[in-house]
Amino acid sequence: MAAGSHYKYLVLGGGVAAGYAAREFSKLGLTPGKLAIISKEGVAPYERPALSKAYLFPQSPARLPGFHTCVGSGGERLLPEWYSEKGIELVLNTEIVKAELSEKTLTSATGATFTYDNLIIATGSSTIKLSDFGVEGANANNILYLREIDDADKLVEVIRSKKNGKAVIVGGGYIGLELSAVLKLNDLDVTMVYPEPWCMPRLFTAGIAAFYEGYYANKGIQIIKGTVATGFDSNANGDVTTVKLKDGRVLDADIVVVGVGGRPLTTLFKGQVDEEKGGIKTDGFFKTSVPGVYAVGDVATFPLKLYNELRRVEHVDHSRKSAEQAVKALKASEEGKTIEEYDYLPYFYSRAFDLSWQFYGDNVGDAVLFGDSDPSSPNQKFGSYWIKDGKVFGAFLESGTPEENKAIAKVARLQPPAADVEQLKSEGLAFASKF
Ligand code: FAD
Repeated sequence: MAAGSHYKYLVLGGGVAAGYAAREFSKLGLTPGKLAIISKEGVAPYERPALSKAYLFPQSPARLPGFHTCVGSGGERLLPEWYSEKGIELVLNTEIVKAELSEKTLTSATGATFTYDNLIIATGSSTIKLSDFGVEGANANNILYLREIDDADKLVEVIRSKKNGKAVIVGGGYIGLELSAVLKLNDLDVTMVYPEPWCMPRLFTAGIAAFYEGYYANKGIQIIKGTVATGFDSNANGDVTTVKLKDGRVLDADIVVVGVGGRPLTTLFKGQVDEEKGGIKTDGFFKTSVPGVYAVGDVATFPLKLYNELRRVEHVDHSRKSAEQAVKALKASEEGKTIEEYDYLPYFYSRAFDLSWQFYGDNVGDAVLFGDSDPSSPNQKFGSYWIKDGKVFGAFLESGTPEENKAIAKVARLQPPAADVEQLKSEGLAFASKF
């Protein structure tokens, strides 16, 4: 890459949001040579959620080019050739280490500079590492994290080399749950460890979590709650051998996978742009406080119109939609026009084993569990509503059909009154299907 390249539009980050932004630019009309995407990764934008799911399957695993964006939402698969045909430059294997927003300039680790008229920041998140907290022995070999495709390749290699070995998963969030499942499918002996009283505590209630914990236990996964990993031992090769827990227990381990959360990658822009709630503050068009600079996906703290508050959302659906919204707004502003403000309904999902859940809305107020949530039942299908001020704010459903998932989404958007909790519990899904 020659130093001093200039682009009308520059996307920093080559993840999910970047792929959807590129497609939107192309839809709205793009002159070749005007757009570049700069990415630390060596591949064209892809659907990141695949990395903790089908990418790690023991049989017929997903591999690129199978899951380039925008297949995750049922759209066209944008292969590297698509970008060249459209005249969109993919500047891969390039890490930006300095951003000077007042100069409209980015500088890479090798000293190349990129200038722009408009910048879309789509740097996503980085994983929090145990070594960040000085956990003893946390730099041993085979203590792994999962964010990018290189991490997933490393994981595949270690899974292959530790056949029938012991895996310890640190963290009980969605990464912990998905990775435990997929490592079990790879015939590893899996133990999960997390400090909270139940898994996915930011979303799940005790009732929802009891189902997943029971289901995992039935699959032979051990779950240790209420404690944390405080240290690791390794052998003469530097490979991890044991995980030491705060409660005094010591677990044998050939592989450790840590999923303890992420941090939005905003450090390049510190002091140059307004921030809020840990992210880059934007308006409903994803414009930041700096003219010509937009922020989308995991890094954006945006007005969530439905709840009248600023929020940051680290989920794939929002990364896609925010990218499309920013490009639409940018293109409209060039013609002196404006578009509707972003009006997002929060949506998260996860899949593991033959389970699949979706959640829409806000998990605030009192939760009402309905359906069959017995983990040993052959027909498990259950859900939860969240009721605040007599209205339904959130809805969760395990093993829903596409129509049923649409129905719970609608309920979360409409926020219908639901004064009688007992009736809601007995109606269950039928309540959502009425709207
Ligand atoms: P990303 O997709 O992370 O892309 C950021 C890009 O920026 C990366 O390519 C990165 O290399 C690049 N970058 C960062 N800094 C620099 C720099 N300085 N220079 C150059 N390039 C840089 N969400 C769900 O809703 N459901 C799921 O099931 C789900 N599963 C997930 C599974 C995994 C393993 C992970 C890691 C995330 C998952 N997510 C899921 C979350 C979802 O993938 C993210 O919210 C989404 O990818 C955010 O998109 P983004 O474009 O903002 O960031």
